[in-house]
Amino acid sequence: AARAPASLAGTTVAVALARVGQRGAACARFWHPLAIATLNETPEVAAAAPFAAVLRKAFFAGARAARFALARVPLSELYTTDARRTLEQAGGTVVTGAAAATLALGRDGVEALVLRDGRRVEADAVVLAVPVAALLRLVPAPLRDAHPFRSLAAVGTSPIVSVHLWLDRPVAWGAPFLGLLGGRAQWLFDCGPAAGGGHRVASVTSGARFWDDAGDDEIAAEVLADAATVLPAVQAARVRRTLVIRERHATLSLTPAADAARPGVETPLPNLFLAGDWIQTGLPATIESAVLSGRAAADRALEAVASLARPVRVPSRGREAAPAT
Ligand SMILES: Cc1cc2nc3c(=O)[nH]c(=O)nc-3n(C[C@H](O)[C@H](O)[C@H](O)COP(=O)(O)OP(=O)(O)OC[C@H]3O[C@@H](n4cnc5c(N)ncnc54)[C@H](O)[C@@H]3O)c2cc1C
Repeated sequence: AARAPASLAGTTVAVALARVGQRGAACARFWHPLAIATLNETPEVAAAAPFAAVLRKAFFAGARAARFALARVPLSELYTTDARRTLEQAGGTVVTGAAAATLALGRDGVEALVLRDGRRVEADAVVLAVPVAALLRLVPAPLRDAHPFRSLAAVGTSPIVSVHLWLDRPVAWGAPFLGLLGGRAQWLFDCGPAAGGGHRVASVTSGARFWDDAGDDEIAAEVLADAATVLPAVQAARVRRTLVIRERHATLSLTPAADAARPGVETPLPNLFLAGDWIQTGLPATIESAVLSGRAAADRALEAVASLARPVRVPSRGREAAPAT
C-alpha cells in the first residue's frame, strides 16, 4: 500500500489492499478503520493514492509522525484566534459574517469580490477558500464552465455524524478516546463530567452514508449499543439527553475519479487562486490538506500581486512590493 501514487491512480483502497495480500481481520481491524478515519469514505469507494500518502506520512516519517493529536479547545479557538491576530498585526483586516456572492471580472482577471449585502471589495488578487459547492455558486457562469471548475461539478460529498450522549453516571475508561470495531460508532471520546452532573461521551462516524435516512433516536440508540458492548459502565447508565450532529457534506467523497478531478491552486485567471482541503495536495481532505493548499495559494497570490505594474501594499509581508520591471 506504500507504493508510489502513480501506480495507484484509478485504484480504490480495497483493491490496493487486496493486491498486497491484505484481507480478513487485518482489513476489518486495522486497514479499513484507518482508511475510513483518514479518507472519510469506505475502502470500496475511496481512492488508494491519498491513503498511501497517509501511510507514508504516519508510519514512515518517524515515531512523532504517528502520534494522535486531540484538540482540547474548539477548533475555532485553536486556529482562527491566532490567525486573525497575525493578519491584523500585519496590517490586514478580517471581516467575518460576510458571505461572498460573486466575483466582478474585468479584462485582466478578478477586479473585486462582491458580498451578498452588495458591498464590493476591490482586490489585486483573490484566494477563494470555500467548499466546492459554495465555489461553484459564486464563480460567474462563463468561468464555471472552464477547467478546473467544470470537472468539480461532478465531485460528491461524504458525511460525518457525531453523537453526544449525556449519561447519569461516570463511565470514564482511563483514556481520552477509544476506537470501536464492528459497529457503526467508530471513535468514542470521553468528554468528562457534564455541566449539570453525570458524564458526557461523544462518538464520531466517518463515511456515515448508512445513516442518511435514519432518525436521530435510531442513530443515538445504535451508538449507545456500540459503546455498551465495550464499556460495562455504559450498560448500567441511564441516558439523560442525546444530540446527533450530521455534517452531510463534511468532505468531498474521495473516489479515484474525484481525486483525479482535484485541481491545483491556480485558475484560468492570473489573479484568482483556490484553497481548501479539496485541492490536490496528495493528502485526503483534511485540515493538513487545507493548510497546505492555503500556503500554496497565498504564495501564488503574492507572486501575482508582485508582478502587477504598479506599487501595491502586501500586508502579510509588511512591505511594499516592487513593481514589475
Ligand atoms: C465532524 C468532522 C470531523 C472532522 N475531523 C477531522 C479531523 O479529525 N482531522 C482533520 O484533519 N480533518 C477533520 N475534518 C475535516 C476538516 O474539518 C476539513 O478538512 C477542514 O475544515 C477543511 O478546511 P477548509 O478551510 O478547506 O474548509 P472549511 O473548514 O469548510 O471552511 C470553508 C469556509 O468557507 C465559508 N464559506 C462558505 N461559503 C462562503 C461564502 N459564499 N462566502 C464566504 N465564506 C463562505 C464557510 O462558512 C467556512 O467557514 C472533520 C470534519 C468534520 C465535519
